[in-house]
Amino acid sequence: MGPMHIETLSLISALQSLALAAMMWAGTRSRPGRAHTGLLLRAAALAVESLGWGALALQAWLSPAQMLLGGNAFNLIAQGMGVIALRMLLGEPLRWRLVVAIGVLGYLGVAWFGLIDPDYRSRVLWGSVAIIANILLQVQALVAGRSRARTVLLVTCTMSALLVIWRCGQLWLGSSVLGGLTEPSAINYFYILFAGMQPLFASVAFLLLYNEILQRELHLLARLDPLTGVNNRLALTEAAGRLMRGAGRRGKPVGVLLLDADHFKSVNDRFGHAVGDKALRELVSNIRAKLRANDVIGRIGGEEFVVLVPDTTLQDALALGERIRATVECTPLLVDGQTLQLTTSIGATVAALDEGDFAAVLRRADAALYAAKRAGRNQVVVASDNGSGCESGAMLSA
Ligand code: GH3
Ligand code: MG
Ligand code: MG
Repeated sequence: MGPMHIETLSLISALQSLALAAMMWAGTRSRPGRAHTGLLLRAAALAVESLGWGALALQAWLSPAQMLLGGNAFNLIAQGMGVIALRMLLGEPLRWRLVVAIGVLGYLGVAWFGLIDPDYRSRVLWGSVAIIANILLQVQALVAGRSRARTVLLVTCTMSALLVIWRCGQLWLGSSVLGGLTEPSAINYFYILFAGMQPLFASVAFLLLYNEILQRELHLLARLDPLTGVNNRLALTEAAGRLMRGAGRRGKPVGVLLLDADHFKSVNDRFGHAVGDKALRELVSNIRAKLRANDVIGRIGGEEFVVLVPDTTLQDALALGERIRATVECTPLLVDGQTLQLTTSIGATVAALDEGDFAAVLRRADAALYAAKRAGRNQVVVASDNGSGCESGAMLSA
């Protein structure tokens, strides 16, 4: 095992880290945000890490003190940046003061036992404690949630920790050369080989996590109505399918309310489209105020909304529709200094327990809504689940 081996491995690791940094940086084309900044920071950490490997590769041109001080500084900085990058990506508190403290203490210890009171074992132990502390800060952030990418990263963290512990064990218990990481020895060789592969594992795992977070963000964005922030038609249809399947299992039907603002066109005509938009947001918050945590609201058209009420009866769905109608009627909206009074017409129905087709349920609610409009607006009309026609809410609740 000649010194060339260790220099060559270090050189490969330096180039590999640099290439990974460039690739990661090239992948940061997504819209700015926490995940984006985390990825940039991870790329920067890799670039710094490549300098640490570079110091090891260039040992022939550097004094031992230069290599010790330079190499460890780059490694500790890169580790700290990696910890912050991961915590940022995961949306965890950054704990950057702790990260800086770990880096500074680790560095001082390594410098002390390297130059002032040279003791190779204590030096490695000191550096290893810093590495383990950084790994623990990553693990703590990773176990806050569950996902495949998190598991992959936990595995790479565990591998790094085991490598460090194994090296310490070899130095304290085994018969290891005590001259430093650049001494040609089997332990140093394997340590550098595996430590050199770490950036690759960690980068791929980090990218998996980044990808997972972006996917989740897109999944949510694709289901959000941008104007009012409630579910859009896609999300509503998915929720309806879920609730209707659950209703069959639990034996309790899902209530469905279809709401349409009355004469909304005239709001736009009188106050302008911008005021109309704000009025829609206000309308949504008035409706939401009447809903329970498990109720689902979605916007399926311009000023048409659907409310899904799990575990309910036709009577209760009607009662909720009536409460919403009354609230909207009795709450004047104050938009841009203008007061405007909205009313809503509501079609109410329940999905039968064996009913699987949400579109059919919605058609029934729509027929009831149409009846409410024809009967003069600002009222709730129910359609029973067997489609036997519509009754006005007032009649049914009388
Ligand atoms: P009614 O329902 O009582 O029969 O009368 P309406 O005037 O509300 O008629 P309809 O429901 O057919 O028309 C909806 C109007 O809502 C048309 C459009 O001017 C307005 N609208 C639809 N989407 C938006 C939107 O996103 N923002 C604003 N400001 N207006 C919208
Ligand atoms: Mg309308
Ligand atoms: Mg409409």
